[in-house]
Amino acid sequence: MIKILNFIDGQFHEPKDNLWLDNVLPANGEIYSQLPNSNKSDIDFAYQAANKAFPQWSQTDTNQRAKILSKIADLIEQNIEQFAAAESKDNGKPIKLARTVDIPRAASNFRFFAQAITQFSSESHESVGQNAINYTLRKPLGVVACISPWNLPLYLFTWKIAPALAAGNCVIAKPSEVTPMTAYMLGEICQEAGLPGGVLNIVHGEGQTTGQALIEHPEIKAISFTGGTSTGRHIAKLAGSHLKKVSLELGGKNPNIIFADCDYEKMLDTTMRSSFANQGQICLCGSRILVEQSIYEKFKTDFIARTSKLVVSNPENQEADLGALVSQAHMQKVLSYIKLAKQGQGKLLYGGNRVTIENHEKGYYLEPTVIEIDSLNCELNQEEIFGPVVTLMPFSTEEEALQIANSTEYGLSASVWTNDLKRTMKFTQELEAGIIWVNTWMLRDLRTPFGGLKASGMGREGGLEALRFFTETKNVCIQY
Ligand code: NAD
Repeated sequence: MIKILNFIDGQFHEPKDNLWLDNVLPANGEIYSQLPNSNKSDIDFAYQAANKAFPQWSQTDTNQRAKILSKIADLIEQNIEQFAAAESKDNGKPIKLARTVDIPRAASNFRFFAQAITQFSSESHESVGQNAINYTLRKPLGVVACISPWNLPLYLFTWKIAPALAAGNCVIAKPSEVTPMTAYMLGEICQEAGLPGGVLNIVHGEGQTTGQALIEHPEIKAISFTGGTSTGRHIAKLAGSHLKKVSLELGGKNPNIIFADCDYEKMLDTTMRSSFANQGQICLCGSRILVEQSIYEKFKTDFIARTSKLVVSNPENQEADLGALVSQAHMQKVLSYIKLAKQGQGKLLYGGNRVTIENHEKGYYLEPTVIEIDSLNCELNQEEIFGPVVTLMPFSTEEEALQIANSTEYGLSASVWTNDLKRTMKFTQELEAGIIWVNTWMLRDLRTPFGGLKASGMGREGGLEALRFFTETKNVCIQY
């Protein structure tokens, strides 16, 4: 059995108190590795290593930092097959998705921030008439915490770590206890790339134990968190009382708004992905599909026909469109929402059942599921399901579409399908979402600000926003 270890001070370590968790294979429900359930002693150890490394790393020439981060990107790319296989196994996602999306993006995160830090300039302001010049220094914060979820494990883990390191911080990072494997593998890559010991420390364990010890550590200067909204609220409270900087990327219940004048085939292809990619376990998935009345019946027929052709299979199958859900507990949560539909909260149009895969009978497979709803106040419209489940609703006017779209507490992303410019401008102004896609979905440019409104988060990641988050400004005013 593989034993995952903590990566602290450039070396691999067992947890100080010898506490371990089981890691389960979603494809067949078997335990296949163990990981540390690290506690305060391990976090203290990681903090000491990070704090010791900080003076030198924060003073390292940015070109040198960039060189090491680029090397990490190269090594991830060189080992893409091993990383993709491990990610697919650990998470249950189809191997082709891990190979084409997750792992390439993890490499891009390092490459992007390696370049971005060399272009990160500070501001200067001449105070005309006062013989003075102001300039702003941007200093790394010190030791910071990065905490990430299980749905895009290495992708989101590195999305936080890369800007933190590029900006000169030392990091203690905790991946999800449900998907620790690729974060573990990243330790070896860091050794090979020559990242000095203590600059990045990767500590494994449960949220309530390891995560809690990390966010409670008095000397950690900032917390960058991606995960559920209730965990985010808890972290915000704690960070508030310690006056720590905090960035929160939380849940979503994103509308996918389809007008009759859109490019129908492109919309349908993209809607298949935005509904079911990664078994619907992407915070950006368009889980609420709103369709203009005049094409509602046609869309319903076509969408269900396409959904029925999706292949649910074991993640190693190159043909799989959907793999396994990440865990039994998560599958039960998703099934509890499907049950609401079966009990009459919505009309189950397609799916709704577990799928049994030969030789993987204990795996967590679900049919892609389509539910028609007619109420805004029901759980199916309001709550994040985070599985291969979408709801359908017709609308008649732009105002009605906006009302439905903005009817939840979330505000992460939205997609709009239309070729009408005036309508596009109206929706981009009035939709309550931090990220809006028009005639596309999940098209990402890493320079853009990323994050949600309302209960979907606080602060922005990406590009210069991330580098600003991971630095503290100091203004200097010189009179001459
Ligand atoms: P989660 O909140 O349960 O866990 C996320 C991380 O926080 C894990 O590493 C977990 O161990 C840790 N954690 C849990 N309790 C903690 C505590 N008390 N202190 C410190 N850390 C703690 O979320 P999840 O189930 O892993 O992920 C799914 C959620 O993440 C969904 O709501 C999804 O929408 C959201 N998500 C958001 C984005 C985004 O960019 N907005 C991206 C991906 C996922």
